[in-house]
Amino acid sequence: MIPMVMIFSDLEKNGIELLAKGRELADAKGTSLKALVLGPDGNSIAEKYIKHGADKVLIAGSSMVEFKVEEASDILEGAIKAEGPSIILISSTKNGKELAPRLAAKLDAGSATDVNKIELEGDNVVTERVVYSGNAISREMFTGGPAIITVPSKAFDPLPEDSGRTGEIAVIDLAPGEHPSKIVNVQTMISEGANVEDAEVIVSCGRGFKSSDDLKLIKDLAGVLNGVSLGCSRPIAADLKWLSEDHWIGLSGHKVKPKLYIACGISGQIQHVAGMRDSGIIVAINKDPDAPIFNSADYGIVGDIYKVLPKLIEAIKQKK
Ligand SMILES: Cc1cc2nc3c(=O)[nH]c(=O)nc-3n(C[C@H](O)[C@H](O)[C@H](O)COP(=O)(O)OP(=O)(O)OC[C@H]3O[C@@H](n4cnc5c(N)ncnc54)[C@H](O)[C@@H]3O)c2cc1C
Repeated sequence: MIPMVMIFSDLEKNGIELLAKGRELADAKGTSLKALVLGPDGNSIAEKYIKHGADKVLIAGSSMVEFKVEEASDILEGAIKAEGPSIILISSTKNGKELAPRLAAKLDAGSATDVNKIELEGDNVVTERVVYSGNAISREMFTGGPAIITVPSKAFDPLPEDSGRTGEIAVIDLAPGEHPSKIVNVQTMISEGANVEDAEVIVSCGRGFKSSDDLKLIKDLAGVLNGVSLGCSRPIAADLKWLSEDHWIGLSGHKVKPKLYIACGISGQIQHVAGMRDSGIIVAINKDPDAPIFNSADYGIVGDIYKVLPKLIEAIKQKK
């Protein structure tokens, strides 16, 4: 029996994606979907959540200006005990992934992280997640509740906003306990402003480029396409530092789902593919016909990026 589904995210955008899956699970069992919101902006987020599928939004921790995992897990524990959800979806943000196992330990519950498929088999919740750098899929069943599940960004498409949708918003009186840790300083990450996770088109570079100056080629390609972000493999961001970590795609970088992903001079090791395999159309340019990237590509160009890219840029300009 599924009494209720609850979602929580420290990021509104991810929360809206969780609501889509939460709605589907709640409807399948004829139950309600609740969301928990923490922090001073609770009301405006709650209204958006209702328009995206929540039946009820609980607001707590209005004094929590900075997210602190110990405090958040205290409040979530209290809310879960009071409301009794049997499925709790949490976004797989850094905070969410720290929160979920803490909650599971507090509630003596099961937890599965980075799940990209959730199904109901009778009364049981079954999840699937990619393991061993994408070499296997682990399928797990929760035989008791509550099931605490973290979901990566873009795993589920959000429901369209329904401005006429109504629901309940309630402020709940749950205060976190005292904790010895303190936030002494919050340092904003220096970002080049790349937002690969929301990009419709990503032009991505790897070690096939001989120098950072040569990245002009992918910047020129990006210039002739619309809505483009630059992506890269790990060595470009982590070792060579030709691009910032905002651009790093893969298992330990960003997971992306653009409509078009163009991989230039990237070998296609499993750790890179783990971050871009859900792209709509994948185009790969590599001089090695046996490069693994071609196994993931919809279109492959076997050739030298230094020859292919100028021609591709010119062809797109002509077409326009
Ligand atoms: C735990 C772990 C986590 C990792 N996480 C990530 C991650 O998140 N993201 C990631 O990307 N990697 C990650 N890696 C590293 C990964 O295994 C690869 O080493 C990396 O992806 C390789 O980057 P690359 O394809 O740019 O370079 P290479 O593997 O060196 O490939 C370069 C490619 O360019 C081609 N090439 C060379 N010259 C040209 C040319 N002129 N024209 C056309 N093609 C050319 C070559 O044929 C080759 O295929 C991780 C590794 C580990 C162990």
